[in-house]
Amino acid sequence: MKGTDNQILNVSILGSTGSIGTQALEVIDDLKGIKDIRVTALTGNSNVKLLEEQVRKYKPQTAAAADEKSAAELRLRLADTDTKVVSGEDGLIEAASADKTDMVLSAIVGFAGLVPTMHSIKCGKDIALANKETLVTAGSLFMNAVAENNVRLLPVDSEHCAIFQSMLGGKRAEVSKILLTASGGPFFGRSRGELKSVTKADALKHPNWTMGAKITIDSATLMNKGLEVLEARWLFDVDIEDIEVIVHRESIIHSMVEFCDRSIIAQMSLPSMKHPIQYAFTYPNRLPSPDKPVSFSDLAEMTFYKPDEETFRCLALAKKAGKTGGTMPAIMNAANEAAVAAFLSDKIGFLDIADIVENTMNTFEAKQNPTIEEIIETDREVRTQICQHC
Ligand code: NAD
Ligand code: MG
Repeated sequence: MKGTDNQILNVSILGSTGSIGTQALEVIDDLKGIKDIRVTALTGNSNVKLLEEQVRKYKPQTAAAADEKSAAELRLRLADTDTKVVSGEDGLIEAASADKTDMVLSAIVGFAGLVPTMHSIKCGKDIALANKETLVTAGSLFMNAVAENNVRLLPVDSEHCAIFQSMLGGKRAEVSKILLTASGGPFFGRSRGELKSVTKADALKHPNWTMGAKITIDSATLMNKGLEVLEARWLFDVDIEDIEVIVHRESIIHSMVEFCDRSIIAQMSLPSMKHPIQYAFTYPNRLPSPDKPVSFSDLAEMTFYKPDEETFRCLALAKKAGKTGGTMPAIMNAANEAAVAAFLSDKIGFLDIADIVENTMNTFEAKQNPTIEEIIETDREVRTQICQHC
């Protein structure tokens, strides 16, 4: 049963050189002849060579590099093309709001994605959201902007895409809770003592997913699941207490929704980020995918465990930040981004990440109902303070 979809989709891909960005371009290739997806903008950081290759293949109107030095090099390399090369935050904003764009795939990693994503929403672009830090730090402003500008918001995080699909099984008022699954990461089952000496290379070895470095470390500390609790809280307007995290080592069930009649609806597939990316591009339709199907007879077992929030404190810290609200999630997120960067530069140990997040949350006071400018200022202040110490 082959499906096709005649509607052309014009997408801007923010973070096209990353793990999600490159897989999104593969999805566009996979859908050739089934759905016509055209690329209006591509953006990267300093990976100029890859960005050049992508521009030559997908011919966007605009390409943005994070800094002017990379943009100048890209401009030279692309002098024979019609693509306009821009740089910096203004460049990202231009890439995020190109006239022709119908949908923006927000796949920059971290807080750097906030301003361009908010700008896309204000320009009325539909959003395929991979960048969870945006919702974590500015959830209330983000969701208000989505409602005010009447844009479609499609989650690309695999768990949230699963929840979104499971929610279609009942009415919003019938939902009793969300069951958010976690792989448990590379250090599942280890004690704090065993985590003292783990290295960057150990932490970067995720059992089920190949992802960018920052989210892979977040998966090892369980901060990724903490960020995802807050992401789900905003996307689906549920209380943090109604989101239960369950470790499911095989990553086949990507999350579930329990309804008031105790019926649970789950979304399952083999672990592949191409599924949620494709679903965002084709929603409300489903189109064929080259992904392998789940074979239940080959799958030996599916296991479930309670997360160990005492060893992996980041999950509890994120929930605490979410309950405090205001700028506290932005404080927590900035501390985590700075600590993960320090860990990836071999400046601190694995267990220091949670300590830095906790100490920072104890040092900074949350401001309620912040403006976007106050969130940006909070992020800057927290990073400056942490960078002085590590
Ligand atoms: P990545 O590190 O592989 O790629 C990040 C992209 O952002 C790159 O294109 C990079 O050039 C760009 N970038 C980085 N810093 C930038 C800056 N300061 N300004 C402009 N551009 C910048 O990351 P990723 O794994 O693709 O993750 C992207 C986002 O998607 C993250 O928020 C992550 O949490 C989320 N996500 C990723 C996965 C996954 O499987 N990789 C799954 C779920 C959610
Ligand atoms: Mg996820």
